[in-house]
Amino acid sequence: MTETVTNWARNITYAAKEVHRPRSAEELRSLVASSAKVRVLGSGHSFNRIAEPGGEGALLSLAALPSLIEVDAAARTVRVGGGVRYAELAAAVHRRGLALANMASLPHISVAGSVATGTHGSGDTNGPLSSSVREIELVTADGETVTLARGDERFDGAVVNLGALGVVTALTLDLEPAYEVAQHVYVDLPLAGLDHAAVAATAYSVSLFTDWRAPRFNHVWVKRRTDRPLPDFPWAPPAAEAVHPVPGMPAVNCTEQFGVPGPWHERLPHFRAGFTPSSGAELQSEYLLPRADATRALRALAGIRDVVAPVLQVCEVRTVAADTQWLSPSHGRDTVAFHFTWIDNFAAVLPVVRRVEEALGAFAPRPHWGKVFEVDPADLRGRYPRLDGFRALADALDPAGKFRNAFVRDVLGD
Ligand SMILES: Cc1cc2nc3c(=O)[nH]c(=O)nc-3n(C[C@H](O)[C@H](O)[C@H](O)COP(=O)(O)OP(=O)(O)OC[C@H]3O[C@@H](n4cnc5c(N)ncnc54)[C@H](O)[C@@H]3O)c2cc1C
Repeated sequence: MTETVTNWARNITYAAKEVHRPRSAEELRSLVASSAKVRVLGSGHSFNRIAEPGGEGALLSLAALPSLIEVDAAARTVRVGGGVRYAELAAAVHRRGLALANMASLPHISVAGSVATGTHGSGDTNGPLSSSVREIELVTADGETVTLARGDERFDGAVVNLGALGVVTALTLDLEPAYEVAQHVYVDLPLAGLDHAAVAATAYSVSLFTDWRAPRFNHVWVKRRTDRPLPDFPWAPPAAEAVHPVPGMPAVNCTEQFGVPGPWHERLPHFRAGFTPSSGAELQSEYLLPRADATRALRALAGIRDVVAPVLQVCEVRTVAADTQWLSPSHGRDTVAFHFTWIDNFAAVLPVVRRVEEALGAFAPRPHWGKVFEVDPADLRGRYPRLDGFRALADALDPAGKFRNAFVRDVLGD
């Protein structure tokens, strides 16, 4: 008999021979060693089949393991278990007077699942969330534990891992002293004459939102660290009321605006822990490309906005700093990321996803690993110069392909 589990967006049903929820590390190791095929499900916030074990495989959830969050205040690090979500982690770290460098738009997602897919927030100088990881602990196919630390030659292949190397049981992350952030929202920024680099550089983390119904950004969210100067924002007026990025959704779901200073973890995400993030009925896609191409890429998207707008809830433009991790979508290049929150209708959205990929094709976009994309796997492979290194690492840690599902086989070209 197969069991089924659906993802957060309910657009994917994972078929699994069994779903296991181990309660101890010992149980987890023996489940991995005795399974022929296995995948881990994090908090299920991906929009594609990346976590799919396949009908003959087992799905493993770490949600029932004892929560592990060990802060080392002197070393400014935290060791966090494989099932922990950012909301719980951030609150614990903040209580100790410490902080993460950045967060994604929502704190509801698991840390291990997020870094496995290259999840990111925004900020010209902020790498993806995976760049905070300094050590990773994996239970590999034979049930043994492997630890890789920054500096180890295989480390840069291990963190953005698509779930293909083993079960991540713990991650050690860099911390810094806690800081405050003030969030300012500006409205109706015209696309004509936009200096994207100047806008993105105004603050620690900047997001531009458009519904593409007109050539303008409905909002620009500027997240300023209060230990840095208040930037000028001469291009658009401030919002008169609190806003939600998705038109029509209630602002109460969002983190506080109007420049009210607050703790880093209550301002860097757009959505508040305990509230519905985004719209809840949606699909998502995202493409990461060289930041130097931002203006040309915006022009290309504006050229198809009549096609995009009817199936779009909102498009978000962020920046991510280059990093060194082999499968990171911002590997080796300062990046601009174009995110799309689509309507909840796969048949209507898919042709538009293809049009967006055509429009951005000249910029060698790397799709977000956890979102809907149609890029030919052969093209994808050409966009990751260290893909062969990742394949070799996966072969070494998992010679029989226990953790390799159809998604990973496509990416690796098996
Ligand atoms: C409303 C919403 C907003 C979002 N906002 C952002 C955003 O701001 N920025 C961004 O970049 N992305 C964003 N995403 C995408 C999201 O961050 C990614 O899909 C991320 O992977 C979610 O983590 P998860 O734990 O839910 O992963 P899952 O979907 O559960 O799993 C993703 C992958 O990680 C693997 N995995 C999970 N846990 C483990 C583990 N312990 N060991 C080994 N492998 C593991 C799984 O096998 C799978 O391959 C958003 C998604 C939603 C639904």
